[in-house]
Amino acid sequence: NREWHLLSRPVGWPKPEDFALVESPVPAPGEGQVLVRNKYLSVDPYMRGRMSAAKSYVAPFELGKVMQGGAVGEVIESKAEGIEAGDHVLHFFGWREYAVVDAKNAVKVGTEDVPLSAYLGVLGMTGLTAYAGLLRTASFKEGDSVFVSGAAGAVGSQVGQIAKLKGASRVIGSAGSDEKVELLVNEYGFDAAFNYKKGPVAEQLRQAAPDGIDVYFDNVGGDHLEAAIGSLNQGGRIAICGMISVYNNTEPAPGPTNLARLIQTRGRIEGFLVGDHYDLQPQFVQEVGPWVASGALKYRETVVEGVENTLEAFLGILRGDNIGKMVVKL
Ligand code: NDP
Repeated sequence: NREWHLLSRPVGWPKPEDFALVESPVPAPGEGQVLVRNKYLSVDPYMRGRMSAAKSYVAPFELGKVMQGGAVGEVIESKAEGIEAGDHVLHFFGWREYAVVDAKNAVKVGTEDVPLSAYLGVLGMTGLTAYAGLLRTASFKEGDSVFVSGAAGAVGSQVGQIAKLKGASRVIGSAGSDEKVELLVNEYGFDAAFNYKKGPVAEQLRQAAPDGIDVYFDNVGGDHLEAAIGSLNQGGRIAICGMISVYNNTEPAPGPTNLARLIQTRGRIEGFLVGDHYDLQPQFVQEVGPWVASGALKYRETVVEGVENTLEAFLGILRGDNIGKMVVKL
């Protein structure tokens, strides 16, 4: 069993020396537990936060111990009622090849309708993040004009498409390469998209949304947030999902300089955490599942192979190597 340990807390960009791939014996399940051979590991931007010591909504990873994260795999041995060897489960003990999981922390998933990796992405945590953040936090309604950053990523690509499917008047996305911008418009049906590396975000957003925006779904922070406030219409809503542009900063980034515009627009900014919205999971799967099955909602995954490449996959997210959900296939 190979598993990834955090050796030291990264300062700025994580470096390979901060981590080690360690060999350990395959663990044995106790009463009420199952042994899982992981098939897909999730790597996600929020894991950067857990590598730091700062207190947050999830505890920091412990130094010298195996890291954690979403994973799906096959049960090899079960000492729990209701789960059999051969079943597939979603659980939270990724960054390793084999995991012993308490049955109460393992969710059985089907392998017939969607590929296993979908439970980490389009029908999993990132999908629910898009759904809850757009519909609940940003109070999206038909006719809204929606701007989403990180739009070619797992969360962002789903935000834009759900908005379109639910009757947005205009959907605008930003991403970090021309290839991604083309994908947004030609495959995901965004009305407009721009490459934020090619010019000031505020200017590009004004051009893409000449009539302003009613909703901004923020995955990025920084000048994207300031630009969105600048283009916000009366009664506009901003859902703060993530701020990936600052995760590796060693100094706090300056905030938007134009917050006073929220007074004039009666605009609202609200942060949210997907963990508070799991009550929406059944509704999410019921509504979005058929869109995925019919192809009305498209998704891509970037699949990196081999447990030894998990760290590289994680770093790839911070660099923007991925299109759609980044997963590691074992
Ligand atoms: P993505 O699949 O979107 O991958 C991250 C993307 O961020 C990269 O592909 C890259 O694309 C982009 N990026 C990296 N650095 C920058 C930068 N400096 N400026 C702008 N874009 C950058 O990841 P997820 O979909 O998993 O997550 C998206 C966001 O949602 C993250 O901020 C994450 O922390 C947050 N999140 C929040 C949750 C919550 O509960 N609040 C739950 C899940 C995710 P590009 O090429 O376009 O730069």
